[in-house]
Parts: sequence; structure tokens; C-alpha cells
Amino acid sequence: MPEDDPIAFSLFIEWVYNGALPNVQSQGYVDSLYDLYIFAEKICMNSSDMKDYIMDKIQDVSRSHNLLPTPATVRKVYHKDRSEDSNLNLFCVQVLVFDLTMKWGNREVVGADWMRRKSFMDNLKQELGGLLELCKDNETLFNHFVWELYFKNNPEEAAVDPRRRDDSRPNSRCRFHGYHGNGNVCYQDKK
Ligand SMILES: [Zn+2]
Repeated sequence: MPEDDPIAFSLFIEWVYNGALPNVQSQGYVDSLYDLYIFAEKICMNSSDMKDYIMDKIQDVSRSHNLLPTPATVRKVYHKDRSEDSNLNLFCVQVLVFDLTMKWGNREVVGADWMRRKSFMDNLKQELGGLLELCKDNETLFNHFVWELYFKNNPEEAAVDPRRRDDSRPNSRCRFHGYHGNGNVCYQDKK
């Protein structure tokens, strides 16, 4: 990865030296953070601290500017050479499902006039076309997507933005972190 992704590699060096990464509000930066996470996973560090830190950064930057993983990023995350059990996959698919249910879960359209319903259906068809394109060569992504959609049938659950972290609640703060317990303490508690 370092050779073909100089930005992610320079972020890796920055993290090694400073133990921190900047807050840059751009899609390109978030894309690099995903690359960096995949790299951190590849080098198999014993601790999940770095991955957990990058995950927090991905969540914060994505949320503050309403950014989603691009189709190219989703393909990298759901690449066949990666473990599908990664927290990055979980986060990625949950963000996609959250976005879809927020945009298209609008029941008002049921009683709306024909024109409005048609426009809604046309837009939805376009959106689903993009999703189909992403899933057609990727059964794992499709399975995860359908599972999350089914799970998110609960309206309360569906309204929770996966990009939102509540540091006062460990379940929310560490939702996409590695295993904590048995001596594995969250990096946030080591400060
Ligand atoms: Zn944690």
C-alpha cells in the first residue's frame, strides 16, 4: 500500500511520530483514512489502538461534513482479500444503510400525488441502480447490506447515525473499536 498510496502512507508516518492525525474536512482525506485503516489492518499490529483512533477520525470527519464512503472506497473495504469481519466493513455498510433509510424511508410519499410518487420512484431507482452496481460482484456486501437493512427495520435503531460517537457512553464510543477487555484497554482511556 505505501507505494501506491502516498497520502495514506504519509498519514501513517504522521501517526507514528505524533500519535495523532489532523482534521481535514474533505472527501479525499476521508478516503485516505479508509486506506490507512486497511493498511493498519494489514501490518497486523497487536494492539487495535491505531485502528480505533483512525475509526474515530473517519466517524468525526464524515459526520461533520456528511460524507459517505465513495463506491471506490466501498470496493476496497469489501475486497475479497480482506476479512469481512472487520469493524471497517461493519461501519461502511451501516453508513450506507443509514443514508439509504434516511433518504428513502419517507412514508409521506405513500399518500402523495402521482407526480411526486413518480419522481420519488425514479430517484429511488437511480439510487438502487448504483447499489446494484456495487453489489453485483460482491455477494458479501450484498448479504451485509440486506442484513443491516432488515435489522434497521426498527425505527429507533434506524435513526442512529453510525458516524455519531458519544464519548460519554462506552457502547457508542467503542461501537467500531477492537475488543476491549482482558487487559485490552481503549486507547482513549490510556491518555
Ligand atoms: Zn474503545
